Amino acid sequence: MFDYASRVARLQVLMSERGIDAVLLTAGSDLPYFSGYTAMPLERITALVVPSEGDPTLFVPALEAPRVETGQFEMMPWGETDDVLGSIASRLSGSDAIAVGETMWSSFLLAFQERLADVEWSVATDLTKELRMRKEPDEIDRLRRAAQATDRVLARIPSEVGFVGRTESEIAAEIARMVVEEGHDRSWFTIVASGPDSASPHHETGQRVVQSGDMVVCDFGGTIDGYHSDVTRTFVAGESTDRQREVHSVVDEANRAGRAAIAPGVPCQEVDRAARQVIEEAGYGEYFIHRTGHGIGLEGHEHPYIVEGNDLMLEAGMTFSVEPGIYVPGEFGVRIEDIVACGLDSVDNLNKADRHLIEVG
Ligand code: ZN
Ligand code: ZN
Repeated sequence: MFDYASRVARLQVLMSERGIDAVLLTAGSDLPYFSGYTAMPLERITALVVPSEGDPTLFVPALEAPRVETGQFEMMPWGETDDVLGSIASRLSGSDAIAVGETMWSSFLLAFQERLADVEWSVATDLTKELRMRKEPDEIDRLRRAAQATDRVLARIPSEVGFVGRTESEIAAEIARMVVEEGHDRSWFTIVASGPDSASPHHETGQRVVQSGDMVVCDFGGTIDGYHSDVTRTFVAGESTDRQREVHSVVDEANRAGRAAIAPGVPCQEVDRAARQVIEEAGYGEYFIHRTGHGIGLEGHEHPYIVEGNDLMLEAGMTFSVEPGIYVPGEFGVRIEDIVACGLDSVDNLNKADRHLIEVG
């Protein structure tokens, strides 16, 4: 159980510093972060109004009120025929600057903008990321448990999942099942990209039948107690070639270099540069076509982003992926992804699964 009241209090300090009078959060991951309540993302609005001083109010559809466990906030259940947008707007009246959750539906935002004139609107993420990027020990514990569960799935793949002669979709379904078997509450996504498909980083897993000699990128994750896992290993179906082993070893080295660069005070872009430099020096720079990583927590992708241009300095407790890749169009791709935390003086590897190139029959 997290201390939601203290999170709200810290948000209110930031609001005061930045001149924000109210934060308005609807369905999305900021809402459970500050309230413990995960709303259904439906047309019936659920909204947490956080004033810069005083207690927040949770507007919730009356039929969903029994789902709400938190007793820390004033609850405002609303009925089907109530003008709830009007009620929320009147709660916000007098606010000059309002920050809204980034996943608020545009239909809601437009309705609020119509009702509240002369308000300066901004995105609440500018505030909430400051708290959410810096994980509490209990959050890191959940992320570690999720990462360990994916490590156990990876350890089972070579002996339990046949590759050659099966479709990407069949393999993905087995991996998703093991993600749940190993302790996740649910599977989040599963990418299985084989042969030339593996050169597409976010390949749409499909009916391609895996051939002997294919590279097979397996990228998957789930959630445990709301927190995400996200891991990638690249296997070979059958026997590997010298070229596959060479490219894989470059990516492995880039992954290691990225993780080795992690320490408090290091800018995010330096982690990207450390990984990218290995791939560039090996002559594959043009084939590393994405950033090195993304933050992870209640969302699968969140701040901080490990990308050139991000000079935000890492702090102990920040959690993110390190996932360099090389994608040679028409040929194959390799990606090796781990979730890490920035520790007190170096990297804290949440994923520890074998990073060698493993041949799977
Ligand atoms: Zn991934
Ligand atoms: Zn990722």
